[in-house]
Amino acid sequence: MKLIDGKAIAAKMKEDIKRETLALKEQGVTPGLAVVIVGGDPASQTYVASKERAADSLGFYSVKKELDQGVSEEALLKLVQELNEDEKIHGILVQLPLPDHIDAKKVLNSIDIRKDVDGFHPENIGKMIIGDEAFLPCTPNGIIKMLEYEGVAIKGKHAVVLGRSNIVGKPMAALLLAEDATVTVCHSKTRNLKEITALADILVAAVGIPGYVTPDMVKEGAVVIDVGINRVEGRLVGDVDFERVKDKTSLITPVPGGVGPMTITMLMYNTIESAKRKRED
Ligand code: NDP
Repeated sequence: MKLIDGKAIAAKMKEDIKRETLALKEQGVTPGLAVVIVGGDPASQTYVASKERAADSLGFYSVKKELDQGVSEEALLKLVQELNEDEKIHGILVQLPLPDHIDAKKVLNSIDIRKDVDGFHPENIGKMIIGDEAFLPCTPNGIIKMLEYEGVAIKGKHAVVLGRSNIVGKPMAALLLAEDATVTVCHSKTRNLKEITALADILVAAVGIPGYVTPDMVKEGAVVIDVGINRVEGRLVGDVDFERVKDKTSLITPVPGGVGPMTITMLMYNTIESAKRKRED
């Protein structure tokens, strides 16, 4: 078993992004990222703070817009519009979840697709599916980069994705398919799930249930990617029963320190890509 050190891979990618940022700045372009947060949800505040820290450490121009929990949908849409028109901003991220009185879909759809660095806009998702140039959703794209970095051949492998959310499971399946894997997607209604996961050469777990993946579900020598972030008794744990599963795998990601650091790094990667495209316009 070898551990995939997401933190180290992310740090290496950040060095490259930092170098590219310096080069862009010399050409008069500073990558700009705007993060919008509504309300004081502690988990969202933590995520936004880490995104801001990452942007600052890379030398980006970073803006945080904090709005009250009670802000109207109209005011939020107006802010997104202003950021769409702001020349200094290359990436816009609206932290989810949004309060119930706001239509999150409407807000995400209002982001200019050229600044949609989260890759959640339906047009970007459509482009990803048909293989056109698009901003790819950060978590699944970070996983592909990790596999590349570790030299895992994806082509022809059987990849099983546990979970079918719009932000992780579905785009993960699409990206693995684009890399020529044979992909099976499992979800809460899947029958004989253990028999399917036990066939996986690459198993990606994104269900949000602590320790869900047990050794009987894993093929000997499989590559196991744990997307889950669950808080149990104050500790962060993944969707994989790491201690019991690890020795069956050839490669496995830990939680924390696996997929998480890659997600934030891919957001920065998309922002600098956006700045580069803008420069070429
Ligand atoms: P969602 O809750 O949106 O989706 C969970 C998926 O798991 C659903 O498709 C659901 O199926 C499926 N599922 C639930 N229970 C079971 C079950 N018993 N058996 C099989 N499938 C099941 O979660 P997300 O995709 O947003 O996130 C998944 C996990 O990843 C969470 O822990 C989240 O915190 C973490 N996460 C981590 C990130 C990172 O950067 N590391 C980024 C984003 C998320 P159905 O569709 O049928 O309901």
